[in-house]
Amino acid sequence: MATHNFTTSPARDNYDVVIIGGAIYGSAVAWFLMDNPDFDGSILVVERDPSYEKCATAHTNSCIRQQFSNPLNVKISQFGAEFIKGFKGFMGNDPRVPDLSIQNYGYMYLADTDAFANQLRYAQKVQLETGAATQLLTPQDIKAAYPFYNVDDITLGSINTIDEGYWDGGTVFDWWRRSARERGAEYLAGDVVAMDVSGGRVKAVTLANGDVIGCGQVVNATGPRGAKTAKMAGIDIPIEPRKRFTWIFSAEQPLDRDLPLTIDPSGVHFRQDGPKTYLAGGHCDHDPAVEFDDFTMDHAIWQDKIWPTIAARIPQFEAIKVITEWAGHYDTNTLDRNAILGPHDEVENFFFLNGFSGHGLQQSPAIGRGTAEMLIYGEYRTLDLSPFGYDRITRGQMFVENAVI
Ligand SMILES: Cc1cc2nc3c(=O)[nH]c(=O)nc-3n(C[C@H](O)[C@H](O)[C@H](O)COP(=O)(O)OP(=O)(O)OC[C@H]3O[C@@H](n4cnc5c(N)ncnc54)[C@H](O)[C@@H]3O)c2cc1C
Repeated sequence: MATHNFTTSPARDNYDVVIIGGAIYGSAVAWFLMDNPDFDGSILVVERDPSYEKCATAHTNSCIRQQFSNPLNVKISQFGAEFIKGFKGFMGNDPRVPDLSIQNYGYMYLADTDAFANQLRYAQKVQLETGAATQLLTPQDIKAAYPFYNVDDITLGSINTIDEGYWDGGTVFDWWRRSARERGAEYLAGDVVAMDVSGGRVKAVTLANGDVIGCGQVVNATGPRGAKTAKMAGIDIPIEPRKRFTWIFSAEQPLDRDLPLTIDPSGVHFRQDGPKTYLAGGHCDHDPAVEFDDFTMDHAIWQDKIWPTIAARIPQFEAIKVITEWAGHYDTNTLDRNAILGPHDEVENFFFLNGFSGHGLQQSPAIGRGTAEMLIYGEYRTLDLSPFGYDRITRGQMFVENAVI
């Protein structure tokens, strides 16, 4: 295994916090813990693939939106935007850290049925009450602002161009990891394969090489492998790896203004990428759980579904060319497509960071901060994230969020 300067043997045999998975979530929690003056414990982040080649974080589209239908998700993204825009300040004004911004082209939801238009109207009300700037657009409004769209079948659009669009998640991830390590969090190249659970606590984790490491608290930040990790503690969670495709394409006739992240009624989405390139995302209609290592592309879906959809919505995109493409895995919560957070009710030192589905990257600042609070104080101090608690899973009660992509 390539270790990328991660340690291969832990400095201690026991840590206050063992975080399993060292991508954006593992690193967010490590950093928020280290940044909190009330935390003086030891942290071990165990990462099975320090190249990060296959993790969800490496395959993300890195967009942020305020257009959720649940006010808690709106507030989570509002802190996400605050964190991105104030990134350097949050990182202690370290001169090595760059300033970041959000490329605010907005998400353009397009409705072609009354039922979906009503969902957009309801969501806008929630968003305005929560302080977001969402605007509803008639087809004529859409055409006036973005003449390139075909709106013949569209009844309503919804867009917000404040704190909504692309951001550089990779830079935030790199700095959280780097800064957490500089402050003493240890990153270990290792694969957690078992847990020693007794008396309602995880006492230790076992690595594939046989090492056993004691833990005060253990955090499951293993993305699409979240259910496999929970199972090691005897816990079931409804998380599955679901394949999502991304294409970067160029157009023979580029658009004359930024393309919002357009959520077509078909579910296909596409947005501006570089100055003259675009990104599209989608998945197969048949959407089963896939093997953890299955990243094969489905070329038929581009030809048969994605390209025809894009060309029908933007006729100027009749002539486009794929430059690059990839498949990644959502860590899909099959109950309600939303996060599972906080401690388990019986294995009390086992904490969840799972199920982010397609909107985990933007949630990492608020949820990283909240999870650090839960680990330190046993409660959320800034934003109450308890509606995402594990208890809803056992009750089969959904966290209601209509705007999932
Ligand atoms: C195609 C795609 C597009 C997306 N677009 C967006 C977007 O536009 N906006 C947005 O907000 N979100 C988006 N997301 C979602 C977001 O990227 C994810 O929710 C987020 O990256 C999840 O991060 P994570 O750290 O939880 O999981 P991961 O990034 O998957 O990291 C989990 C880590 O745990 C490690 N691990 C697993 N098991 C073990 C073990 N047993 N021992 C040690 N280590 C282990 C893995 O190697 C991995 O590095 C997208 C996701 C995909 C796939």
